[in-house]
Amino acid sequence: MPLFTTPAIVTRSMNYGESDKILTFFTRDFGKLKGIAKGARRSKKRFQNVLSLFSHLRLIFFDREGMGLVRVESGDILHTFPRIREDLKRFYYGNYYLELVNEMAGEREVNAAAFDLLLSFLIDIDSTAPEEERLRMFEIRMLSLFGYRPHLTRCGLCKRGWEEMKESHSVFFSLERGTMICDRCSKSGERLIPLSLGTVRLIDQVAQVELDKLRRLKFTSQALSESGELLPPFITHQLGKELKSLRAIKERFENSKSEI
Ligand SMILES: [Zn+2]
Repeated sequence: MPLFTTPAIVTRSMNYGESDKILTFFTRDFGKLKGIAKGARRSKKRFQNVLSLFSHLRLIFFDREGMGLVRVESGDILHTFPRIREDLKRFYYGNYYLELVNEMAGEREVNAAAFDLLLSFLIDIDSTAPEEERLRMFEIRMLSLFGYRPHLTRCGLCKRGWEEMKESHSVFFSLERGTMICDRCSKSGERLIPLSLGTVRLIDQVAQVELDKLRRLKFTSQALSESGELLPPFITHQLGKELKSLRAIKERFENSKSEI
């Protein structure tokens, strides 16, 4: 049976039978993979910490048919992210990152840039305090990388671009159409999310800037509130369901100014 190796992050982990584990990995070289680790709960030495949620590892696996479950042979741990596991808010944020990737990624569809983004956001949340704007940045980048990016450069109906809209302070976004709508084209009756041009431009910058310069972009409170009204509903609309981990963040941390 062919043996493979790749950098991987554990995005889901559940016990199976007496001693096995069924896992989902987001890997750099093979995309999303599901696998079984035989005896993972008995053989502590072989798999200690390696197969926990969030773990970043060098995964070694057998793959006979190029489909279905792979067989996990072993793994070398690269990062364990201890603070994500110990701090509730970090854990909730990290869980949302994993769930978003799990839902957007197709099995065995390689997306190395999405892997690098997930890894960089896990490292970030392990080392700095969780901030809401990081959630929005992660959403914008992942939507882009998986081909779901909302159309925000021009009105989807009359095709007017930003440059021609300087006088108008507000535009709208239509979830159904997946595009920006200008004030002239907005009609009552359609569900539209109001946005300022500043927010629209910021979202576009977040989508395009190099990853290592992302930290330099800052959300104003208006941009934070508007993008929070736009992006989660847009993702729910695209995926056809609301992500549990995002609802948990809203219920637990929204409307609370105190940092945990
Ligand atoms: Zn228009």
